[in-house]
Amino acid sequence: MVTIKDKEQCCGCAGCSQSCPVGAIRMESDAEGFLYPVANPDICIECGLCHSVCPMSITEHGDKLLVAIHAYKNPVDEVRLRSSSGGLFSKLATAIFNRGGVVCGAVYDTPLIVKHIVIDSVEQLPLLCGSKYLQSEIGDSYVQVRNILESGREVLFSGTPCQVAVLRRFLGKDYANLLLVDIICHGVPSPEVWRACLSESLQKSGVDMEYRASGVNFRDKRNGWKHYGVSLTVKHFNGTLKEIYEPASRNTFMKGFLNDLYLRPSCYSCMFKAGESDSDITLGDFWGVEKVNPLFDDDKGVSLVIINSHKGKEAFTANTEDCIDVSLDDVAKYNPSYFQSAVRPKERDEFFKEFLGARGTTISLIERLVKQRSSGFKNRIITVLRRVGLYDTVKRFSNKLKQL
Ligand SMILES: Cc1cc2nc3c(=O)[nH]c(=O)nc-3n(C[C@H](O)[C@H](O)[C@H](O)COP(=O)(O)OP(=O)(O)OC[C@H]3O[C@@H](n4cnc5c(N)ncnc54)[C@H](O)[C@@H]3O)c2cc1C
Repeated sequence: MVTIKDKEQCCGCAGCSQSCPVGAIRMESDAEGFLYPVANPDICIECGLCHSVCPMSITEHGDKLLVAIHAYKNPVDEVRLRSSSGGLFSKLATAIFNRGGVVCGAVYDTPLIVKHIVIDSVEQLPLLCGSKYLQSEIGDSYVQVRNILESGREVLFSGTPCQVAVLRRFLGKDYANLLLVDIICHGVPSPEVWRACLSESLQKSGVDMEYRASGVNFRDKRNGWKHYGVSLTVKHFNGTLKEIYEPASRNTFMKGFLNDLYLRPSCYSCMFKAGESDSDITLGDFWGVEKVNPLFDDDKGVSLVIINSHKGKEAFTANTEDCIDVSLDDVAKYNPSYFQSAVRPKERDEFFKEFLGARGTTISLIERLVKQRSSGFKNRIITVLRRVGLYDTVKRFSNKLKQL
């Protein structure tokens, strides 16, 4: 029977609850807002399926294949504008629809809840586009995907590396008609913190209580991809819409998220970095493209495309003007999230102690701790080392010294 003793050991992928043959496991939110499995001992038949599916129980990863790495720009500007990076996901999804297949990915259910759904037409595609900085609720998506695969239709499943890793184990065999696409993942932030920030920022913006949030875009590119913003659409009960926009660098929720203050505990020691999810293709933002190839950068977004399998190579096609080959060194320099987990800051405990104790506003708490964190000497050094691409080397060297 599944029991969570250490929260760092559960990534919330819901593989256990979906694989349970008697429906004994449901996902329940803890005080921080993250979902964990809870098993009903009266129903559990001790079959052990929940343990065998759990991606956190993988002790050894198989040999990895790194077929190619590209930087890619979707030639349709409108597609790139609605996508977080270069819009490769939309191109892959469109190719699947053209062959009669379906796509499973993350959509907003409400501005506070993200969930996975299956879509089968290009008209629904904008719903899936764009990064939603909340852990998506999987529902029964793995079961749906298996049923569709068995019917012979093609499926593109897209999600975080842990969601992709569990789907492979859940299915238990290779399907030629399945394409697995994961995203480079910084980690998922607490939905409870997002709820608090949203409500406080609506009040701060002077939005009348008669308005409620109806849409959010964490990667609004109106001022360019590198200086993206967060926009919020609020709807009056009479149907009138208002928009609130803020650069991400000034948005308190984004500041706390990027300072790792309230990530899911398991994200600080993610087991699925650098291709370990076993996906066919990994997608990310090609940060640093302006240094690697300035002519390729137009500040509308560039995807980093890491091809991990021959199937992934077959699925990726692009015109020469939309794509360039790049090296793993370029990735290492500018996108540390591909290789390593966020470091759990000491301020995380302080944050949740105060947040759950409901002292003061969440926004002022985040602002204070972000300031405290960035003024710490060690953090300043880490930031500089990461910026110049030397963090990994120095960390390896210092680990060796510790072993001596
Ligand atoms: C929580 C999170 C953290 C990320 N961290 C990084 C990072 O540190 N570095 C980096 O380079 N890239 C990161 N990304 C990925 C990046 O922002 C883009 O999503 C990716 O490059 C794909 O971009 P695109 O333009 O091809 O397509 P887009 O249209 O932007 O991508 C949409 C795809 O992303 C999936 N997706 C969106 N939100 C979620 C979610 N909450 N859970 C699961 N799947 C989701 C959708 O299913 C869809 O398939 C992160 C994304 C998320 C959601």
